[in-house]
Amino acid sequence: MSLNFDLLVIGGGSGGLAAAQRAAEYGASVAVFEPKPLGGTCVNVGCVPKKVMWSTAALAHGLADASGYGFDLDSWRHDWGTIKTRRDAYVARLNAIYAKNIEAKGVTHIAENGYFTGSRTISAGGKSYQGKHIIIATGGYPARPDIPGAEHGITSDGFFELDERPDKVAIVGSGYVAVELAGMFRGLGSEVSIFVRYDGVLRNFDDMIRQELDDALSKDGITVVTEAIPSKAGTGHSGLFLETRDGRVFNDFDCLLWAVGRKPNTEDLALEKAGVDVDPRGFVLVDDFQNTGAEHIYAVGDVTGRVSLTPVAIAAGRRLADRLFDNQPDRHLNYNNIATVVFSHPPIGTVGLTEAEARAEYGDIVKVYHSAFVPMYYAVLESEGRAAMKLITAGEQEKVVGIHVIGDGADEMMQGFSVAIGMGATKEDFDNTVAIHPTSAEELVTMR
Ligand SMILES: Cc1cc2nc3c(=O)[nH]c(=O)nc-3n(C[C@H](O)[C@H](O)[C@H](O)COP(=O)(O)OP(=O)(O)OC[C@H]3O[C@@H](n4cnc5c(N)ncnc54)[C@H](O)[C@@H]3O)c2cc1C
Repeated sequence: MSLNFDLLVIGGGSGGLAAAQRAAEYGASVAVFEPKPLGGTCVNVGCVPKKVMWSTAALAHGLADASGYGFDLDSWRHDWGTIKTRRDAYVARLNAIYAKNIEAKGVTHIAENGYFTGSRTISAGGKSYQGKHIIIATGGYPARPDIPGAEHGITSDGFFELDERPDKVAIVGSGYVAVELAGMFRGLGSEVSIFVRYDGVLRNFDDMIRQELDDALSKDGITVVTEAIPSKAGTGHSGLFLETRDGRVFNDFDCLLWAVGRKPNTEDLALEKAGVDVDPRGFVLVDDFQNTGAEHIYAVGDVTGRVSLTPVAIAAGRRLADRLFDNQPDRHLNYNNIATVVFSHPPIGTVGLTEAEARAEYGDIVKVYHSAFVPMYYAVLESEGRAAMKLITAGEQEKVVGIHVIGDGADEMMQGFSVAIGMGATKEDFDNTVAIHPTSAEELVTMR
């Protein structure tokens, strides 16, 4: 086998595989370095197994509501082991599909860690590979706090290894991973506390979403402990404990989970050999075209620290391959108006600016439309589900610059609305759209 390629890709996750396959479609010779099962974080310990667990918890919510719809379900119990086995089998199927797909496209898979030994050279498994172009797509890994006893906790990676549901769980962190995993544990019956450093979860989200989510978590029985900065963790007589800097001690947990952010996989790449610069946290610095400072070396996905989502890594990787191998010199990813979902219960969908961001950017010309209601699904139930929506416009034309939704279906709702925002839709465009009835989404085109 020749060790010279048009493109070398370090990392076989969302971004790396997308770039590799697109480049191969254009006829480039491509090799991907990936020692773990193909698919990266998303497939193995991220979006995919997470969505399976979210669906499991959503089903539990449905079962709790079933008697209100006239179903006679005496009792039910959930077996965590069953869904883990089925989920692992699904992930293994996906790993195999990725392997087959890249093979079919003629991409060489080198199942080794790769690292730079020169500006065009990657070493792996004792061999040196030359690339005309090199893409760094090594993603990241979950961080642990630097405190005594941190090793007693697991991370999101460990969540997917659990064979059974722990009864009492402490989750430290305030981002979407903390919120989502809390909802899954709780939906399936665990007692859950989330420990946050400041005043609540999802600090970068619109205030309305944060408030509504806070209420939903509390209705669901999830405790949010605020201003809690961990100082120590460990095992006591009756389980795990967590101490906070202000001296509070929380005891008796069966599972302690750190969801305190992610670090980039750059320590072992010997980036200095290629002159690739990183920021103080180790993320690779890139420009709008995914170029690093070193010629012919690029980075895409989580390793760049920019909007860490699978479709973002994929889009950046594909556009980069279009630029390098299909003579599309201006092709690059626009990172604005990327829709995102938090798989909480109920889910959150959001695209564009928060109200605070819109006011900071546009000042007084911002107008906000708001709606909160009980979705029809809950009208015949005793459980009190809610939905809330916010539409933010700017300027005389009332261009829509932000949409924020929390409520059942928000996850599926946002994709289409993100197309409208991307096309520059105005409030008038929304008003001129005939509603779909009866849905929750219709509120977004009937707001006054
Ligand atoms: C719990 C969780 C839930 C998530 N849920 C969602 C979601 O619902 N929606 C969404 O869009 N995103 C979600 N994400 C984020 C998503 O998984 C990432 O944004 C995405 O996987 C990034 O892709 P990537 O290609 O940049 O990196 P990765 O997918 O992390 O791939 C990087 C790959 O590089 C490999 N690698 C590292 N170093 C080397 C080396 N030296 N040599 C060779 N290979 C190497 C790694 O083994 C890995 O396979 C979630 C993440 C987590 C942790």
